[in-house]
Amino acid sequence: MGDYHLLDIEFDSNGHKQVVTPVLIQDEEDTVLVDCGYPGFIPLLKAAAGREKITLEAITKIIVTHHDLDHMGSLAALKQAYPHIFIVAHELEAPYIDGTRKSLRARQAESTFDTLPDEQKPHVERFIRLLQSIVPAPVDYTVVHGNRLPWCGGIEIIHTPGHMPGHISLYLPSSKALIAADAVVIEDGKLNIANPDFALDLDEAVRSVERLMDYDIEQLICYHGGLYAGDARQGLMELAQAYKS
Ligand SMILES: [Zn+2]
Repeated sequence: MGDYHLLDIEFDSNGHKQVVTPVLIQDEEDTVLVDCGYPGFIPLLKAAAGREKITLEAITKIIVTHHDLDHMGSLAALKQAYPHIFIVAHELEAPYIDGTRKSLRARQAESTFDTLPDEQKPHVERFIRLLQSIVPAPVDYTVVHGNRLPWCGGIEIIHTPGHMPGHISLYLPSSKALIAADAVVIEDGKLNIANPDFALDLDEAVRSVERLMDYDIEQLICYHGGLYAGDARQGLMELAQAYKS
């Protein structure tokens, strides 16, 4: 049976306090990190894992929920520092993570660039440069919906596209915990769709929220917002309804 730890990482972003929540799942054999923060986050990860008495050297696997600066910004650096780490991602997301295909967000931003008002262009240019700065890393193993990884009491893959096409959430049957990643976020204590402007397909994102309702969830963990305090099923249902009406 596995055990899991929320690594709440607090940092400053342009003068605003922000928190992201990677998760460490552990049993006697494996220590699995789910998402790894922005570039340069290794010292922050080290400190957060250290509070749980876990060293980064102990990490055997990293599951990347999707290609995004805040979820895989430190992936290549971690792989370089700890080459034994085995990297897992959804088959649709792997080509972006390993650099075979260009970031979908960058492509989307570039395709609309010429139509933008001039005052927005510097901001979007910065955004594109930021996306292009994500250092790719090799994916050792790809997964699809319904796969059950045998580590730490079992880790079930839930394909939750919308935010990104190959976005995944993880279900831990042994503890009835759902690691939602960016399928849902917590804002002012309530569940929401991760910044709808950033969802590449909002209808899909809403269908993914409904898909999460198929699971018996006692603990719902969001990358942005951490542990959800309310009733997960109720919260997911209300969120899906709000977007459908
Ligand atoms: Zn995110």
